[in-house]
Amino acid sequence: MRTVIFLDLDGTLMRNPFHSAVFPVVGAQLSAKTGLPAGDIVLRLRDENLARRADPTVSAALVWDWDDIVQTVAGRLGTVFEGNLAEIVAAHAAPPDTAVLDDAPDVLRSLAAPHRSLVAATLGLSKYQLPVLDALGLRPWLAAVLAPDLTGASKQDRSFYRDWPAAADLCVMTGDLYEDDIVPAQGFGFRTVWKAPAVAGLDALDPFERPAAYPFAADQSVRPDAIIRSLAELPAVVDRLEGAVHER
Ligand SMILES: [Mg+2]
Repeated sequence: MRTVIFLDLDGTLMRNPFHSAVFPVVGAQLSAKTGLPAGDIVLRLRDENLARRADPTVSAALVWDWDDIVQTVAGRLGTVFEGNLAEIVAAHAAPPDTAVLDDAPDVLRSLAAPHRSLVAATLGLSKYQLPVLDALGLRPWLAAVLAPDLTGASKQDRSFYRDWPAAADLCVMTGDLYEDDIVPAQGFGFRTVWKAPAVAGLDALDPFERPAAYPFAADQSVRPDAIIRSLAELPAVVDRLEGAVHER
C-alpha cells in the first residue's frame, strides 16, 4: 500500500522564529519610527493577516506573506520597514529561536518506511519555512513541502495537497489546528490526527477513543479519527490506520 502522511509544521513538528525573533525586530523598528508601542504594531500585523484570511479575493500566498503584511501596515502608518523578514528568519532559523517539538526527528525516523511519503503541509511560505526545516534537520525526512506559495492554495482547498492523494491508499493529516488541519482534510477523505490542547482525563484514553470524549464546541461537528497529545503517539496511530485499510 501507499500511505501519504501530511504533517503540519508550526505547533506540530516545530516552533518558528516569528514570535521569538522576527516580530520583535519589526515591532522595535516600526515603534521607533511611529511612536506607537511595539505591541500595538504586532497586533496590527496579526489583524492584517486575519483580514486577509477572511477575504477570498486575496491569494493564499499573500495571506501569509509577512513581508507584504509588514510593508502594508508600515505604509498605513506613513513609513516603511527597512529589512527583509525572510533574511531575519534565516538568521534566526536555529535554536534557541526555533525548536523541534515532541522529539520530531525521532518520530519522523519511526514513521519513515518505503511505502510511506512524509509531506510537510504548512501555511507558512517556503521562504520562511525551508530555512527552519534545514536548520532543525527535518528536511531530509520530507518527500515534499506544501506551502501556499508553492501550491497557490490554502489548506482549505483540495488543490493544496496537489497529486499526493491520487497515488495513495491512505492519506493521514496531522496538525495542531482544528480549523486548518482537521476540518478540511476530513472533508477530503483523509484520516485526521489532531494534536489537541490538553484536556483533563483525556490522556488516559486510547488516541482513537479520545475524539468521543473531547469537549468539542457546539459548532465543531467534524471529528478527527484520533487525538494525540504528543507526536510520539503518531507512529502507532498510523500503524493502526494502515491496518484498518488492509482489513477493508
Ligand atoms: Mg500548526
